[in-house]
Amino acid sequence: MKVKLTYFGHSAFHVDIDGIGIAIDPWITNPLSKTTLDEYVNNFKTDLIVITHAHEDHIGDSEEIMKRTGAKFFAIHEIYVDLTKKGFQGIGANIGGPAKLDDIAKGLAIALTPATHSSYDKGVPTGAIIFKDEIPILYHAGDTGLFAEMQFIGQLYAPKIALLPIGGHYTMDIEQALLAVKMIKPKIAIPMHYNTFPPIRADPYEFKKKVEELGLAESRVLEPGETVEFNF
Ligand SMILES: [Zn+2]
Repeated sequence: MKVKLTYFGHSAFHVDIDGIGIAIDPWITNPLSKTTLDEYVNNFKTDLIVITHAHEDHIGDSEEIMKRTGAKFFAIHEIYVDLTKKGFQGIGANIGGPAKLDDIAKGLAIALTPATHSSYDKGVPTGAIIFKDEIPILYHAGDTGLFAEMQFIGQLYAPKIALLPIGGHYTMDIEQALLAVKMIKPKIAIPMHYNTFPPIRADPYEFKKKVEELGLAESRVLEPGETVEFNF
């Protein structure tokens, strides 16, 4: 299975899994981004947008991308109700087992996970695990503090890639994220949600070094605009 992952800074990613294009928390116009919205829309196929919670830095440019590409969204029920009222099309779900999304792409499924954070009054904040043909490809933790149930993600799925916030202040910091990697057991751990604003300054290379020194996983630091390819 061919997986292409692009980082735009903050918590914004695009993942291409065997030709299925999924944006996650696509705040493409964040202060760290090297990609304009025009460039994004012209160069990335977006079949689905996963929104982890209702904060502006995570809904990001979702509405604009949907208007310009016809992409659908996937989010917790209350965000679903809200965006549906605005005329957007999507799929609402809740925390639990994977929702089968064969209508979007055959073999695609997404499970929403808990996240310890806030989300205005729009349901609760979540993380998301994306599956293709029942293989847990990627876990995007959303914004979260450390929580013990991350061990269940490791026990049940041990996703190939884990995208984890390390910036502190609003989410886990590096030390907490290391414990998260230990529980989640990914093959590859990638830091996110750092250096966008002064309060979340963190060194992603310190995270990478520690993950690898402790033998927890491989780690990759992605620069905004960078794409990496994996074969699983
Ligand atoms: Zn955030």
